[in-house]
Amino acid sequence: MIFEHLDTYGHEQVVFCHNKDVGLKAIIAIHNTVLGPALGGTRMWPYDSEQDALNDVLRLSRGMTYKNAVAGLNLGGGKAVIIGDPAADKSEGLFRAFGQFVESLGGRYITAEDVGIDVNDMELVYRETQFVTGVHQVHGGSGDPSPFTAYGTMQGLLASLNRKFGNEDVGNYSYAVQGLGHVGIEFVKLLSERGAKVFVTDINKDRVARAVGEYGAEAVGLDEIYDVDADVYSPCALGGTVNEKTLPRLKAKIICGAANNQLANNAIGDEVEKRGILYAPDYAVNAGGVMNISLEIDGYNRERAMRMMRTIYHNLTRIFEISERDGVPTYMAADRLAEERIETMGKLKLPL
Ligand code: NAD
Repeated sequence: MIFEHLDTYGHEQVVFCHNKDVGLKAIIAIHNTVLGPALGGTRMWPYDSEQDALNDVLRLSRGMTYKNAVAGLNLGGGKAVIIGDPAADKSEGLFRAFGQFVESLGGRYITAEDVGIDVNDMELVYRETQFVTGVHQVHGGSGDPSPFTAYGTMQGLLASLNRKFGNEDVGNYSYAVQGLGHVGIEFVKLLSERGAKVFVTDINKDRVARAVGEYGAEAVGLDEIYDVDADVYSPCALGGTVNEKTLPRLKAKIICGAANNQLANNAIGDEVEKRGILYAPDYAVNAGGVMNISLEIDGYNRERAMRMMRTIYHNLTRIFEISERDGVPTYMAADRLAEERIETMGKLKLPL
């Protein structure tokens, strides 16, 4: 049963980590290391069952292979999950025991923060292994990735505007930004600096007030964001917001934002394409965060990070070209770019 699962997704290795004394139950999934060591975060979540935890780690680690490949990184895809409640089950022993398991893989898997995990947890993991990113800046960490993600999202937007309208005049277009958290507010700032008309929404009223007060955005209701007359819809909150209900309401000609898993399913991706809306694939657009932490591996450098973010423009352009070349929706073209890169680099047999 488990091996069948691994076959479906094509995983290389899955490690079940157990330490009864500290209450650690974790799974590390290494999906693919053709491009390099598998980089991906550790998620802590009170899964309903061990099967749910396994499904999640398999799905997420495969996603990291594609994300890292499209980002142009020499890194493969992996992910880890710790089964537990982040509010109740954290301890030094738990994270240090987890760190020992990461260490035992000798660098095939490099971990990072994900849902339920913060920089202090990573510091504990770091005591047991060097194969960790997202530690405090004094230890060579890169800090909050959100401004980089926002800047990378802007690069994705420029490529999208160019593709759709033949120019990159951000200020000539209007935007509907959903979610004003760490990334969304930074993105609104970048848009407003370029003189764009921006509609915003968030469940958090203070954040909306900030976008209106500091950046001159126009506030709209949580559900109204799908109806505004904006050229670009930018999901920066939750996944699945492009779905059967919302798509017929959208007037946007471009979908480009930082949220993960924006398309509710592949059929919606096909429908987006049919409607002539240009979808900038989320995992290519929001790769700023992973690019940033990837630089911690060789010694973090902010200037290099900014240069790297600009490659997102070229990655998007390449995806749009593949979409046209193969006559497939852009979400599919992104996967093809990843697969082509893994295949080509696999043939090079680079020295490890
Ligand atoms: P965040 O938690 O700081 O912000 C999310 C914001 O969305 C919050 O302000 C929240 O109030 C708002 N929100 C939640 N539900 C909403 C709704 N129904 N309508 C409107 N607003 C709603 O998260 P973040 O770090 O800014 O990340 C935003 C998205 O980008 C997430 O999907 C995340 O996975 C993705 N992402 C973030 C990074 C990064 O560097 N932070 C990197 C890659 C991808």
